[in-house]
Amino acid sequence: MIVRIAVAILALLLLLAPSSVAGQGSVAVGDTWLHDSPSAGQAGSEITVIESDVETDFPLRAVFSLKAESSSDIVDVRLLYVVDMMQYVEAVSEGWADFTPAPIVDAEWEWDMKKASLPPGARVAYWWTIEDADGNILETSPDVMSFDDDRYAWQSLTGSGPASGDEQPRHEELTLFWYEGSSSFAQELLDVCEEGLVRLTEEIGTYPERSIEIYIYASADDLRGAMIFPQEWTGGVAYTQFSTIAIGIPPTRVEWGRRALVHELTHLVVHQATFSPYGKLPLWLDEGLAMYNEGDLEPQFRSRLDKAISEGALISVRSLCSPFSAETEQAYLSYAQSYSLVEYLLNAYGQDRMLELLNVIKQGSTYDEALLQVYGFDMDGLDAEWQATLTAPMAEEGRTWLHPVLIAVLAALALLLVIRGVPVLRKRAFRGLPSELPGEYRQ
Ligand SMILES: [Zn+2]
Repeated sequence: MIVRIAVAILALLLLLAPSSVAGQGSVAVGDTWLHDSPSAGQAGSEITVIESDVETDFPLRAVFSLKAESSSDIVDVRLLYVVDMMQYVEAVSEGWADFTPAPIVDAEWEWDMKKASLPPGARVAYWWTIEDADGNILETSPDVMSFDDDRYAWQSLTGSGPASGDEQPRHEELTLFWYEGSSSFAQELLDVCEEGLVRLTEEIGTYPERSIEIYIYASADDLRGAMIFPQEWTGGVAYTQFSTIAIGIPPTRVEWGRRALVHELTHLVVHQATFSPYGKLPLWLDEGLAMYNEGDLEPQFRSRLDKAISEGALISVRSLCSPFSAETEQAYLSYAQSYSLVEYLLNAYGQDRMLELLNVIKQGSTYDEALLQVYGFDMDGLDAEWQATLTAPMAEEGRTWLHPVLIAVLAALALLLVIRGVPVLRKRAFRGLPSELPGEYRQ
């Protein structure tokens, strides 16, 4: 609800823009702002805006500048702004401009993104308040800055998400931006996103809360160039509150890109569905849903999971609530277990319970309380139930990783061993490729 109000206010601001910055009167942007400031309608005629501008240097900074004059010294110049993003409460921020008091001033306020960064395409509504020594105050009409990554010549394609379950179904728009590769490459990725959203709706019951923008960079390096403090392993970023995904997908790596895109898209939609100041998802559930929505578990994850099952080296569900290990093998296993736990909950108890679990956590229940309420077991109970289902089908199916005992049996059956040898070799080929890990970063 809060989000809807914020969006409505921003929509209002967008409607008002791009009226002249020299305009009169105040704009109702949240009660806080109006109550905190003197009434702008009483005065203002003495102050004139000569010029107002914003220059962006993506991703580092945005510099807002204002030239104004009055009959007496201008003594106070502030920039007020609202970022178009999901927020718990609608917030107007304030920046105090640098200038020397005089009848004519050149004021400037720099938004240093090292302190608070914005993703590509983020929109910010802004306006100025100017006060002179006689107590005159002018509040300008709002304008909108779009923080675009203008280092590349972006093209775009637009699609649509699935219908929401509301009485009057919504279809949120989906826009994909790219600059390298053919339009069929972009169309393929857009299709993947649309399918991923449909799968989310069908399997988990979640919908996007706002229209989604996806920026496809041509490489992980290009993507990192769009970030202020990138990790060297970052391959994709989901800016949940902005409904924006930025991801590096070279046109030659579409297959990797398909999965990574769906993975980040799932984080985005699930985070929006559970957006609340009270509860945060346990990591295994967050990552598990993203992995599950990608499709079947990939061999490099499956092999680690099977190995840990046979060696009794699984990580406890409780440990998987907090950040995963930085160590590669343990990280693979953490993602694989997360997938398996979500797969188990969905297969055994269905979509409705999963949606209920997300809602109960959103309301602020602890993870144990939420699981108990929805499924009748806590985290340890989930661990036990899930593990009990893991042992039996393992030996029967003989997946890519083979239990030592099974290998011994097969060793006696040379023909079978040759057949099984193929997937075993394939598994080795995946090893030592930590780049296959879903390198991601979320804000
Ligand atoms: Zn993830």
